[in-house]
Amino acid sequence: MRFHHENFHLKHQVWLSPLPSSFHFSPLHPSHKLTLKIVDLSHCLSQKMSGNEDVDSGGVGVDYEYSQSHAELPPMEQQKVVAAQVQAPIISSYNDKIRPLIDAIDRLRLLMVMKEGIQLPTIVVVGDQSSGKSSVLESLAGVNLPRGQGICTRVPLIIRLQKDAKPRPEIYLEYNGKIVPVDESHIATAINLATDEVAGHGKGISNTPITLVVKKGDVPDLTMVDLPGITRVPVHGQPENIYEQIREIIMQYITPNESIILNVLSATVDFSTCESIRMSQQVDKTGERTLAVVTKADKAPEGLLEKVTADDVNIGLGYVCVRNRIGDESFEEARKEEARLFETHPNLSRIDNAIVSVPVLAQKLVQIQASIIARCLPTIVKNINEKLNANVTELQKMPKALTSVADATQALMRIIGAAKESLRKLLWRGEFDEYPDDSTMHGTVRFVKMLSQFSDKLHKCEESEPNKEFLKEEMKVLEEVKGIELPNFLPREAFLRILQRKVEKISFMPIEFAEKIWDYIDGVMMAVLMRHSEMYYILKVSMKRAAYNLVQKMKHRSINRVKEIVEMEKLTAYTCNPDYMKEWTKFMNPENSFISLVNTGSPMRVPSRMILEGFGDIEIEHLRQHSNNVLLLQQAFDLKMRMSAYWKIVLVRLVDTMALHLQYSVHNLLNNDMEDIVKELMGADGHGVERMLVESPSMAAKREKLKKSIKLLKESKDVVAKIMDRIASFDA
Ligand code: GDP
Ligand code: MG
Repeated sequence: MRFHHENFHLKHQVWLSPLPSSFHFSPLHPSHKLTLKIVDLSHCLSQKMSGNEDVDSGGVGVDYEYSQSHAELPPMEQQKVVAAQVQAPIISSYNDKIRPLIDAIDRLRLLMVMKEGIQLPTIVVVGDQSSGKSSVLESLAGVNLPRGQGICTRVPLIIRLQKDAKPRPEIYLEYNGKIVPVDESHIATAINLATDEVAGHGKGISNTPITLVVKKGDVPDLTMVDLPGITRVPVHGQPENIYEQIREIIMQYITPNESIILNVLSATVDFSTCESIRMSQQVDKTGERTLAVVTKADKAPEGLLEKVTADDVNIGLGYVCVRNRIGDESFEEARKEEARLFETHPNLSRIDNAIVSVPVLAQKLVQIQASIIARCLPTIVKNINEKLNANVTELQKMPKALTSVADATQALMRIIGAAKESLRKLLWRGEFDEYPDDSTMHGTVRFVKMLSQFSDKLHKCEESEPNKEFLKEEMKVLEEVKGIELPNFLPREAFLRILQRKVEKISFMPIEFAEKIWDYIDGVMMAVLMRHSEMYYILKVSMKRAAYNLVQKMKHRSINRVKEIVEMEKLTAYTCNPDYMKEWTKFMNPENSFISLVNTGSPMRVPSRMILEGFGDIEIEHLRQHSNNVLLLQQAFDLKMRMSAYWKIVLVRLVDTMALHLQYSVHNLLNNDMEDIVKELMGADGHGVERMLVESPSMAAKREKLKKSIKLLKESKDVVAKIMDRIASFDA
């Protein structure tokens, strides 16, 4: 008897002696400061182990009967027991101070603040399939959980253990917004049913969590999340990508810095081959938030000590070796067996007491939990406030829903007015503050670019570089228009025919340019109008149509105008630009040398080409057949030079006219024609507008979402505010 007690005490002094660890909250308000002392609270478990089944498990202090049973201990050990009694109030202070914190975090979890992107401190249980996750959780909770082959944990299972002095345990499930009380002997079945409801009857998995609440006298205050075990190969009936699905859920839970990773490893395997180790190492390289639980110590006792001492896999928070319940054992029997195993087994008894048994695990987890909560709480408060403020601001920025025709008309006018102003900036004034980075919207710059491309194209086209078969066309036309007149008159008709042909050849270019311009304006206008009418779904659709119609009308009008301009160029040749005469005179300079070169006798000895200024190297051989008709040659040469001088004028005039036309059209569009959109939207009766200002479904949804989110965040804020008040009053 004495041997048993002494041994027992030695074995468990680590967690029986009150192990205070202090930490500070960084103050939210300068006045909010709290020092928390953490002590063991798994003493109840220990009492059960020592055979005291009938102890009060209220959680305050070490039981009288229990310390009595230590009367036979040597004086030193007795002192420790007394110390434990003296420290009893600290335990109650734990209950007073830590419990509300855990409750607050659990409430936030229930409110699903995680959905708002606010991370909560969480102990996440991961492990390869059959590593013993469920068994570990069972051991901690002292209740049966679904255990067995294949995946039975198909959804995240949040387990909230609460030490509670009630005579009867209170156990219930929370999922899909309901609370289902569960009988202690039917927990596994109830969880399976809930899983089917949440994740379907098959073998698929889901990310919707189920919460199991266990309020009992002999559990530590802990909240943990059990995740589906990692499988590489899908079994029959499982989706092909089961590994990826599970991996995604696990990663989502273990990635946040606020998560503590409880990595469940079976003693029977090589830790470095565990998938769960690989995953946790990805998000927690140094292992500073990973705690390893080694299960099945009974199955592979040899070398276990070496395995956990070597720590090949970087477990920062250390290892705890356990032996879970096997077969039909009761939890009490299992704890006794575990204690006996680690005391007596030749290999296992060599492992430091501080890192073996379920009660030690419970105590470590409680400490870790308290410290992460303390560490995270200020950030949580900050995040909740920031999120709340951001959402409130965003909701305020959203336009109010419109109720009357007057409201609606006013809103429409405002939208059109704002759109016009944006368009003026982009297309007229060249102010790009609304679209600083989107150069496609910088209208005035784009116009200049398009205009210069148009000009380039005109100047580089075939008609502008007429060097092949020099004078051939001119001579042909001169023959055609020959009339009864003096031979040295240059017929105007010849000039016009060539001009008409040439203009006709390039007439598609200004039209193409006008189309391009309007397509561009169309794009800019759509983007601007859509942006300004974003909030109103139906208006947006009608506006799109009205704007399209308007641009099409403008484009049509513009093209007609361009056609007219082209026709004018064809009809007559005129310019008052002195450049024309200057160019012509310059071009005419080499006339005599040209004629005489063409007329030089035997073709064998004379060059077949000559350089003409403004034309370059030209072929003249084909002209020698006309050497007897000097007059025709002269007239053709003259005609060519007039046309060349005039063509330059035509091209420049086209570009200039298009530029002016473009500016004029844009001006009209912005100052007059946009009213067409309003007219079309209002409809003939003027009542079209109310129909159109119905809010878009996505806007309405956004508004609803923001409202919901604000409500949730306000509730969360209340939850933390209450807790902060309590902390403040403790401190006082
Ligand atoms: P999970 O898939 O990770 O949840 O693993 P389970 O908890 O379902 O355990 C898988 C199997 O290992 C079950 O048959 C358990 O009974 C068994 N098991 C778990 N822990 C231990 C242990 O410490 N010792 C022994 N012998 N078996 C264990
Ligand atoms: Mg399991």
